[in-house]
Amino acid sequence: MTIHTLGLPRIGAQRQLKFALEAYWRGERSAEALEQTGRTLRLENWQWQQQAGCELLPVGDFDWYDPVATLALALGAVPERHQQGKPGLATLFALARGAHYSGQHSAALALCKFFDTNYHYLAPELSHDQRFAVDYDPYGDAVAEVRALGAEAKVQLIGPVTFLHLSRCAGDTFDRLTLLPNLLKAYGELLQRLAQQGVAWVQLEEPVLALELDSAWQQALETSCRALSQQPVPILLTSYFGSIAHHADLLPRLPVAGWHLDLCRAPEQLDVLLPLLGEQQVLSLGVIDGRGVWRADLRRWAEPLTPLREALGERLWLAPSCSLQYVPVDLNQEPALPESLKSRLAFARQKLEELAQLRRWLDGEGQPEASEARPEANPAVSERLAALNAEDFCRADPFEQRAAAQQAHLKLPRFPTTTIGSFPQTAAIRQLRLRHRRGELSQVDYHAALEREVTDCIRRQERLGLDVLVHGEAERTDMVEYFAEQLEGIATTRFGWVQSYGSRCVRPPIIHSDVARPGPMTVRWAQYAQGLTTKPVKGMLTGPVTLWKWAFVRDDAPRSMVLNQLALAVRDEVGDLEQAGIGIIQIDEPALREGLPLALSEQGRYLDEAVQAFRLASSGVARQTQIHTHMCYSEFGPILPAIAALDADVITIETARSGMALLADFDRFDYPNAIGPGVYDIHSPLTPASESMATLLRRALARLPAERLWVNPDCGLKTRQWSEVEPALAALVEAARSLRREVPVQSL
Ligand code: GLN
Ligand code: ZN
Repeated sequence: MTIHTLGLPRIGAQRQLKFALEAYWRGERSAEALEQTGRTLRLENWQWQQQAGCELLPVGDFDWYDPVATLALALGAVPERHQQGKPGLATLFALARGAHYSGQHSAALALCKFFDTNYHYLAPELSHDQRFAVDYDPYGDAVAEVRALGAEAKVQLIGPVTFLHLSRCAGDTFDRLTLLPNLLKAYGELLQRLAQQGVAWVQLEEPVLALELDSAWQQALETSCRALSQQPVPILLTSYFGSIAHHADLLPRLPVAGWHLDLCRAPEQLDVLLPLLGEQQVLSLGVIDGRGVWRADLRRWAEPLTPLREALGERLWLAPSCSLQYVPVDLNQEPALPESLKSRLAFARQKLEELAQLRRWLDGEGQPEASEARPEANPAVSERLAALNAEDFCRADPFEQRAAAQQAHLKLPRFPTTTIGSFPQTAAIRQLRLRHRRGELSQVDYHAALEREVTDCIRRQERLGLDVLVHGEAERTDMVEYFAEQLEGIATTRFGWVQSYGSRCVRPPIIHSDVARPGPMTVRWAQYAQGLTTKPVKGMLTGPVTLWKWAFVRDDAPRSMVLNQLALAVRDEVGDLEQAGIGIIQIDEPALREGLPLALSEQGRYLDEAVQAFRLASSGVARQTQIHTHMCYSEFGPILPAIAALDADVITIETARSGMALLADFDRFDYPNAIGPGVYDIHSPLTPASESMATLLRRALARLPAERLWVNPDCGLKTRQWSEVEPALAALVEAARSLRREVPVQSL
């Protein structure tokens, strides 16, 4: 029986790829040294797979930045502004990071989320008359390296239909499917060349199969598989992240050599699809979860796999459900995690061992141990959840009454100005946190240094004339990790890195048991800041949905239960902030939209649960306490009703980059509460002019009532320098003032 993987993490167990790339970009490492790091990383991954008994080794999982961008390059789909000389690694880095050509800046490709993962790919840009050409070969070296190991190579490529789905239209929108015929010619050539190189299989990944597709896109899949199956290399049509059983009519029409199915996300699809498998076709089953960090319960597979093995013989393959790039590399690097938790975990290397063990067992050798480790329940948490009633999810007063009470209490000017929470994380601040973590700075000295940072931040905001101040978040490395470290039931890791994009990695916490809050997490900083000023200071929290979405989440409890446990912890923090005299509390939910399930049919229930969790977190306060939320960088129009249902008093939301495109959605949906459409694009190093911000605000005023309009940037300022932030915020305050002069008071 063949076992294989759909790819391993490319970053390396110690993030070698990150450090090599960044040194190369700084000019501190040669191209040869970079290439050598790549070869070593690939080799290590293949050797791990060979040790586990994989004879078919993946090529294309390793990438210098992003496999989607590399594929675009291999197909010649490079936007004109980046067509400079021969395509190569320099082109890839230009697509990824932007580049200057004879003094002219050419922008990078957009980063977008890959389906429902937290991985960002570079979205290819295609024009309506896009040409494709196969004159760059990113796979050949690796194929040769695999063959030198005495193994067979399987090249993994995003398939043409998913490629089009992931691409963006350059200029005006057009139907991307019109590009399919030319695109298929290029794919055909690419496959031909791979066949010549002796590649044994092509893993053609079409995760769009997990989506509901209209007939044109279904037809495109058929056209594509028919065309590419003409090439002299067998195709494993690969799906993941969901069931593809809704394409039961289509699948038998696709003349491919085999399918891969994600049985972890959708075990039930096997019953529907198995009868449709052709007599020669291979069936690769994803039985080890590539998206979670939990040890597999191998015994659950005995019942479905034993008869299948009989029936299919060598045509049955086993694999992880998807690429293992979404999980950290090696659990053995985490000596500090408690044994009781480690016995429940498997990272990429451990998942390979599980795969090997499963094969041995099906071959009649040995028995997998039952995984009996279960989290210890926290009865106090379950009791609280059980005792919740409708009122706990609801502010006691409607928005209008709250708004009046808040205004009487806060006495804010019209068009109040505020920021999203973080201020520049200077090298000095990062150094402080590092020295404290290493034990070089005592708790007392660390706190004293942070207090100086908070004081500086408050004084600067006062000088700028902002109305609602923040403490600046200097104590936080990351908006999720900071809370995860302080909550029970959540673990943080030392080396549990996964790639976010390019050389950037994140270390998602692991929600492993019932979540509880042992004590206040942010109160001392908010209270300290408030003590420095007569202006209101806004308390700053990460919301339950974002904590959930940016973590690895236990798989033994329903989503709503985990969300509500997180919500209760946040609710208690909100209560403590209120008690400490903080009158405005912001609960950030930038990941609300990211949590949407891929299947449309499941989206409604998710939104309900997410909204309930936010309301549980935010509804325990008095009417004069003002709740803010913040969301950024995605399209919010379609979920505006859910955003309104959060019933936050104020939402600050990204809009500057799109020239307030979101406003058009307010024609269709009457947003009931106060809103601060971001007027300063914090992702740009440019200082916006006060007048251009005022223009955006006037546009907002055409759609939103003046008494509900706030003035603020798009997002937190932690990645910017003070030298950029101060003039920009001064201009923002000036824009609000000019609006106050223009709009007569009686209109309020
Ligand atoms: N309060 C956070 C900050 O300002 C919000 C970050 C975010 O939206 N991603 O940094
Ligand atoms: Zn944001």
